Amino acid sequence: GEVAMALAFDEYGRPFIILREQEHKTRLRGLEAQKANIAAGKAVARILRTSLGPKGMDKMLQSPDGDVIITNDGATILEQMDVDNQIAKLMVELSRSQDYEIGDGTTGVVVLAGALLEQSEKLLERGIHPIRIAEGYEMASRIAWDHLEQISQKFEFSVTNIEPLVQTCSTTLSSKIVSRRKRDLAAIAVEAVLAVADLERRDVNLDLIKVEGKVGGKLEDTELVHGIIVDKDMSHPQMPKRIEDAKIAILTCPFEPPKPKTKHKVDIDTVEKFQTLRQQEQKYFDDMVQKCKDVGATLVICQWGFDDEANHLLMHRNLPAVRWVGGVELELIAIATGGRIVPRFQELTPEKLGRAGIVREKSFGTTKDRMLYIEQCANSRAVTIFIRGGNKMMIEETKRSIHDALCVARNLIRNNSIVYGGGSAEISCSVAVEAAADRHPGVEQYAIRAFAEALDAIPMALAENSGLQPIDTLTAVKSQQVKENNPYCGIDCNDVGTNDMREQDVFETLIGKQQQILLATQVVKMILKIDDVITPSDY
Ligand code: ADP
Repeated sequence: GEVAMALAFDEYGRPFIILREQEHKTRLRGLEAQKANIAAGKAVARILRTSLGPKGMDKMLQSPDGDVIITNDGATILEQMDVDNQIAKLMVELSRSQDYEIGDGTTGVVVLAGALLEQSEKLLERGIHPIRIAEGYEMASRIAWDHLEQISQKFEFSVTNIEPLVQTCSTTLSSKIVSRRKRDLAAIAVEAVLAVADLERRDVNLDLIKVEGKVGGKLEDTELVHGIIVDKDMSHPQMPKRIEDAKIAILTCPFEPPKPKTKHKVDIDTVEKFQTLRQQEQKYFDDMVQKCKDVGATLVICQWGFDDEANHLLMHRNLPAVRWVGGVELELIAIATGGRIVPRFQELTPEKLGRAGIVREKSFGTTKDRMLYIEQCANSRAVTIFIRGGNKMMIEETKRSIHDALCVARNLIRNNSIVYGGGSAEISCSVAVEAAADRHPGVEQYAIRAFAEALDAIPMALAENSGLQPIDTLTAVKSQQVKENNPYCGIDCNDVGTNDMREQDVFETLIGKQQQILLATQVVKMILKIDDVITPSDY
């Protein structure tokens, strides 16, 4: 039975994979199973291959509700794809793991896995048992892992010399759609990471960095705010637009009198009774406001809303308020201002108030758009990167790119070893793994050699995407590496005139590159060990 595999597009233009068995067999076994699985994995890798590198193509994806996403980020492309095949899902998972652990290299890891699968196919055809292939790959990946360590360098920076960090983030952004402003964005990312970093413990809590975007303005208006920005405004236009030395009550309980529910029967048959009830309600709310004032709050931030009447009263009693603030934001505000979230009104005490030097409302352009800036917070470590851009698509892609840059800076603070990019590290590993194959007499040597060849897929894809002849370019660069004993020669994607990636300042973190090799090998080993695929017969 032949296995037919096709790449198709759904009605929204999102690619997906159809794996169809002729003769409607419901079960694939042995070699057939492995081949079918490899085909599915390769198909996913093929989609990402053209996105790799600074000259990689962007993908345009449309979600079922009509939102259009334009992205160059591997994890995002896969996230949006509607893959119906289990193996394809593993590849999606692979990219996600790289994103989770490292945050960068999400395209490369899938391309590498695809290349390893392609090599496996050849080995299977030569009659080599999948378990032997898996073992050979495992050995090879360890050799590559160690070799990466050998060619790595220490990346020196300090709080007084952050330029190297900015350079690195800038490299990450150079393959993104936002590359036009890579330098500014990189500087913002580094400043944000350093603001929340604990350099002594080499720890960075990225949760303290909020990335917020608002349509309008230009990408160059993107700024770092030392504090929190919330996409909300004061609940009443006549409330003050600027509060100094704010003491903030952060409420997750309703800030309004309990509503008479229809379940509880209230008899209102006279105007007097209605009036009394109204007065009771008003008094109740008045007491709430007084309680806030008594504990010393000068601003109330609420998770829930309150009606116009309550709003009016708040304005009159001179207690500014912000309503409908999301849970995640409330938490961030609490952390930043050193306040506590108050779930029940009775629990409100002076110690639970958050503190901020300035809370101000800022309006944008001629629009009614307003945002709330909470600055000079008690815990000054929380920051917000506020992205501006012409449309939602641009802002979302900038968010994703900034995320990558933040991760790179964080990774360098955690571990400041780097390897050079542009495929140079892969080529160097390929040479080392190839040499090691000769020292293994067993069948594994074929798999080890195949692994070396798979590593070449990265520089080849980079070359091809830059319009260079892939095989010629790779051969030339590889022999240059060997001849000059220089592991930093890679693909000159941007036609700078040198392929020494040290001179081009193109590098990646050592842990990121090692993780790519580890994860790609793991997933391919997993796929190779599946020899029985059972699919429902109506598939
Ligand atoms: P990923 O999602 O895997 O990070 P990218 O599309 O960002 O994929 O491409 C990263 C690859 O591009 C890496 O191999 C990196 O070394 C390479 N690269 C980035 N910038 C350059 C450059 N200026 N010249 C050559 N290679 C580059």
